[in-house]
Amino acid sequence: MTGTEKLLAELIALPSVNPAFLPPRHPQAGEKDVADFLATVAARAGLDVEFQKVLPSRSNLIARLRPRETVRQTILLAPHLDTVVADSTQFIPQRKNGRLYGRGACDTKGSVAAMLTALFELAGLKSRPRTTEIVFAGLMDEENAQAGSRALTATGFKADLAIVGEPTRLQVITAHKGSLWLDLSTRGLAAHGASPQLGKNAVHEMARIVDLLETDYAAQLRKRRHPLLGTATVNVGKISGGTQPNIVPDHCVITVDRRLLPGETEAGVRRELALLLRSKHLAAAIAMAKLAPAVALETDPGLPLVRRFLSSTGQRKTLGVDYFCDASVLAAGGIPSVVFGPGNIAQAHTADEWISLAELERGKNLLLRFLRALP
Ligand SMILES: [Zn+2]
Repeated sequence: MTGTEKLLAELIALPSVNPAFLPPRHPQAGEKDVADFLATVAARAGLDVEFQKVLPSRSNLIARLRPRETVRQTILLAPHLDTVVADSTQFIPQRKNGRLYGRGACDTKGSVAAMLTALFELAGLKSRPRTTEIVFAGLMDEENAQAGSRALTATGFKADLAIVGEPTRLQVITAHKGSLWLDLSTRGLAAHGASPQLGKNAVHEMARIVDLLETDYAAQLRKRRHPLLGTATVNVGKISGGTQPNIVPDHCVITVDRRLLPGETEAGVRRELALLLRSKHLAAAIAMAKLAPAVALETDPGLPLVRRFLSSTGQRKTLGVDYFCDASVLAAGGIPSVVFGPGNIAQAHTADEWISLAELERGKNLLLRFLRALP
């Protein structure tokens, strides 16, 4: 068994489900056990370890490999420590047919294991970068509100390149979509169901809005195309309105998931929606359904460190993905960011999440090759 596999198996056995998905004080909730364990392992390997407290009992784990000479550049390795929910069998790592099964195997404890093992091996080498500092940040809360990456950038932390760990099948990703959740609500006038002409039906108004969003607006978005990401999209994912059949409903609310292309902002989307509704004589209040909007990622593939990482992984062109992650939060904080890691996103969040052990090892080796060649 390789060091990478051993570390990954140990991480799977330590539940770190995002507390947002569990009842209060649930024993599987929170990143603390994983962060404490990694702190011990990283300190033993000679890294400088610190916790960055973000929420009660929830911290980012920071581990640095300092160069012997003055720091001239910093590389950030940034996977997240939290996972989505799992049944209890998924906390028992299982090795089968060249795969390791368990919650977080690919999303994204596989990246944690590959990145840290590469860093440990680098720390043990005689010839390692003389002026490049390498910082590992195990981030909390990626699966919910990205409080970890937001807190890291809020401290003013800067790096010359962030490699954000997500299961990309070891492809270097420079673009991903953003995600904006908006609540749209209509107001009506309640009346007895026997005399609906005396009221104003908020559900009916909303039905027309839903239709407008799913037809005209969706068509409008299909014309907006990004070379790596395809088109912007809209999905009306949730609706609720009215109280009972014999009352004319005076309220209705929908939640819309709008996937953003680079350059699209919350304010811009709200403006175009307001304009569209007004043009059809429809009215709805628009409000954010999430604490913070998640903008899209678009990193210049021509940046010297990105080009260097690409050529070190043997890839010609960068790619885009449509899921959202910490990379755009770090990029918005001024750190050029790419996404890279072993595993396939198709296995993430599934009931039989797994990672290919060969790919896990290859990921560690690619990272090590890139890091050790830095000045
Ligand atoms: Zn992830």
